[in-house]
Amino acid sequence: MSEKIKGFCLHGREKIMPNSDGLVTRNTSVVEMDIPRLKEGEILAKTLFTGICGSDNSAALGKANFDWVERPRVIGHEFSAQVLELGPGDHGDLKVGDIFTPLAMLGCQDEECPACSVSKWNLCPSKEIIGFHRNGGFGQRVVLESDRAVVLMDGLRPEQGALIEPLSVVVNALYNKCAIKPGDDVVVTGCGIIGLMSAEVARAAGARVAITGIAHDRDTRLKKARERGFITIEVSPENTLTAQLQEGITDLNGLAFGKKGKVDLLIECSGVPQVLSETISVVRPEGDICVIATYGKEVEINATHLTRTSLNMRGSMGSCRADYMVAQKLMLTGAFPTEHYTDFYDFKDITQAFEDSIKATNVKAVVKMN
Ligand SMILES: [Zn+2]
Ligand SMILES: [Zn+2]
Repeated sequence: MSEKIKGFCLHGREKIMPNSDGLVTRNTSVVEMDIPRLKEGEILAKTLFTGICGSDNSAALGKANFDWVERPRVIGHEFSAQVLELGPGDHGDLKVGDIFTPLAMLGCQDEECPACSVSKWNLCPSKEIIGFHRNGGFGQRVVLESDRAVVLMDGLRPEQGALIEPLSVVVNALYNKCAIKPGDDVVVTGCGIIGLMSAEVARAAGARVAITGIAHDRDTRLKKARERGFITIEVSPENTLTAQLQEGITDLNGLAFGKKGKVDLLIECSGVPQVLSETISVVRPEGDICVIATYGKEVEINATHLTRTSLNMRGSMGSCRADYMVAQKLMLTGAFPTEHYTDFYDFKDITQAFEDSIKATNVKAVVKMN
């Protein structure tokens, strides 16, 4: 291959604080890539647009929950790509030229597997995540199993393809795991892209939505949420969500939000242990808490309070093919407006894209890969 193909590669394990001085991207670098030979069931694709996920940032910062990722690794699991070549074996209807997004999580597909036998590869104990278990979408070419490919629905643009995976994670959490209903008052904790998407998807289901962030989020992510018409709540250890709800929060029409400091549903997207501990005090009896975030350490919960208020606390992990289909429909119908949630970067600026994402000075970085 004469073309020089590049990829953004994770190689280091140094623990880096996101707001430290100096390069926050020193565990990563742009490298020249070799393209491996295609094995049975694999395809070669040209990546088009790849999004930076919070988990990519966590891996780049050397966080302990990503220690298991082998280095060097070309990361990236949220992307659109075009099929260049089909390797040996059966590829179903997939053709050269098709534009697709991959299922981030590939299950073992064993008939005996409790998750794979019901098509929930996201819950397979031996699932493999593209961009972590094998090289992913931050390479200008990618080799992957054709079983992962979800061809984009007619009418979707390749740049929207990069947002299907994160949106599918939110679809799984909100529509499969929460009893969300029109008229509900919903708080989303955390205003990263999963939080912002959760706010949109909850509103699309008819809920009234407030979203929290910290002072650092004021000028970018909370500002975006406000522009989109959501109630925004800036929280700090001195001015918690619980305290602010107790004092009374009003929506943009001046109407009271929540009832006596309690809401119907809380969606935890911050990954901050104290925030998860606090959730049980802001949800009404028999209300729902849905946890999409993961945590760097164990979290304390007042389990007696959980019992006495009969709360439903559920975790939600990733997504499967059915959720990708719903996510695409939300984009096609405009129920989720991708154009409000994308900051584009050229591949030559990929290190900057990661720096901005780690420092939370953008909403969602999507890199044009070629
Ligand atoms: Zn992700
Ligand atoms: Zn399995």
